[in-house]
Amino acid sequence: MDKAENKTPENKTSLNFLEQIIENDIKAGKNQGRVHTRFPPEPNGYLHIGHAKSICLNFGLALKYNGKTNLRFDDTNPTKESTEYVDAIIEDVKWLGFQWEEPIWYASDYFGKLYEFAEYLIKKGKAFVCDMTAEEMSKGRGTPQMPGVESPWRNRSVEENLDLLDRMRKGEFKEGERVLRAKIDMASPNMWMRDPVMYRIMHAHHHRTGDKWCIYPMYDWAHGQSDYLEGITHSICTLEFENHRPLYEWFLDALDIKESRPRQYEFARLNLSYTVMSKRKLLQLVEEKYVNGWDDPRMPTVSGLRRRGYTPASIRAFSEKVGVAKRENLIDVSLLEFCIREDLNKNAPRVMSVLNPVKLIIDNYPEGQAEELPAIINPEDPDSEKRMVPFSRELYIERDDFMEDPPKKFFRLAPGKEVRLKYAYIIRCDDVVKDEKGEITEIHCTYFPDTKSGMETTRKVKGTLHWVSIAHAEEAEVRLYDRLFTVSEPENGEEGQDFKDFINPDSLKVVKGYCEPFIKTAFAGQGFQFERLGYFAADKDSNPETGLIFNRTVTLRDSWAKSR
Ligand code: ATP
Ligand code: MG
Repeated sequence: MDKAENKTPENKTSLNFLEQIIENDIKAGKNQGRVHTRFPPEPNGYLHIGHAKSICLNFGLALKYNGKTNLRFDDTNPTKESTEYVDAIIEDVKWLGFQWEEPIWYASDYFGKLYEFAEYLIKKGKAFVCDMTAEEMSKGRGTPQMPGVESPWRNRSVEENLDLLDRMRKGEFKEGERVLRAKIDMASPNMWMRDPVMYRIMHAHHHRTGDKWCIYPMYDWAHGQSDYLEGITHSICTLEFENHRPLYEWFLDALDIKESRPRQYEFARLNLSYTVMSKRKLLQLVEEKYVNGWDDPRMPTVSGLRRRGYTPASIRAFSEKVGVAKRENLIDVSLLEFCIREDLNKNAPRVMSVLNPVKLIIDNYPEGQAEELPAIINPEDPDSEKRMVPFSRELYIERDDFMEDPPKKFFRLAPGKEVRLKYAYIIRCDDVVKDEKGEITEIHCTYFPDTKSGMETTRKVKGTLHWVSIAHAEEAEVRLYDRLFTVSEPENGEEGQDFKDFINPDSLKVVKGYCEPFIKTAFAGQGFQFERLGYFAADKDSNPETGLIFNRTVTLRDSWAKSR
């Protein structure tokens, strides 16, 4: 295809492979042109950035093709699931900015229907109750090269199978005593086709169905049929389910489903550097207290990212940039950081905060005097208003912005040197005062009144420093978060190494910060640029009455790229 052809009006940018499939299906009139996707989380943990990718993909495709997306909880394993997770997932999907087709569905809504389907398969001779133990079954499964052995219970009569399934449902048997299996092919090269289990007995209380059921469907048995019952057209999942697709199809065939048939498509799951993403491992980090809960700002969970100061728009932009791949790959976490930086650079108000203070005294500025200096709230926003920053004789500046004995290219403050205080005046350092340990406690300066910001001046300085007036400063607890792992692939260590061996001991440092008064306007979750320092978001527990708390979302530049 030549380039001109690729740029027809209806096809301006190239389509990803799922969009191509959908467009072909629409053209072919498949499913009467309907597009209906679903996001099917298991409520056994909080959503993470990988789920966010799947959410953006499923909802995004439906939006693009005028379709619908269901939110369906895949709640088929009562021992690991809870309503706490259900509620958190609902909140996260909403927060990401997507609206599902009401109502919210649950695989457990279909337990009755699935049971009828199972009876139908038994009657067709396509399912049987098996009395083998889990161990026997696993031994008898064979290997991809070696066929498995058929269950001795494979040829039970329809009547016996129906009766046993009924008694399984009624709770007459213990866990592990019997299962229902599909009767497919123990010699299939695809292990998933070797008479897979459809139902197992679990005497467990379910968060929605209570004690009504003590047999629970396996993922493969529940999933495709739930898709069918909801009228899903494109069932999108990650690559590890590619081998399950023949089974997905087999169940639909065996149930004689011809019209309105869902189809499964696979894409490569999102993997991020410096991050672990499996819910099992995230649960470990929470339970073993490596982090402070699922919404710890170091967690790759949606709730953690939110608390860290990530915005829904930044996560959607990230998902878009990552695209849709057919092969496993590893995305650099700096791409995610880039997306939030870009968003906050455009949208976050600026404030000055000093996190490692040293006192600076302007000797020729009258004691007890103060003035308010105008500063633009957001220079990236043409409609930005101004904020007023109080200036006075005693200020804090950053300790690193002063050197007593600086190297040549140090353009910040040093004895005899001049710098500009942002939005204020040019100052010159005259003297320093030290304590008995030799640590600098005061920097004494002269200011030049005719250099007030906005005035014409012939004085030239190379450095501009941020500062805070001590008398007007608001104190805040500032949590300096960094990456949780020190290596790019914490799950791929040497033999005998565990992902927890790579936890970054410096992933959180708490300091006291001094901020200009404008910071009091912050609402929970709001992101700010602390000028020259980075982006920080007001924590959900931050409150002007009880104490301000800020979480570092991201530094101004990618410091990891250089330093490691
Ligand atoms: P995990 O492996 O992290 O425990 P999961 O696949 O067991 O996740 P589910 O709740 O079953 O979690 O996933 C819900 C949906 O999210 C599924 O459709 C799954 O394919 C998708 N999903 C999960 N992890 C990722 C990921 N890293 N990238 C893209 N999609 C994902
Ligand atoms: Mg899963």
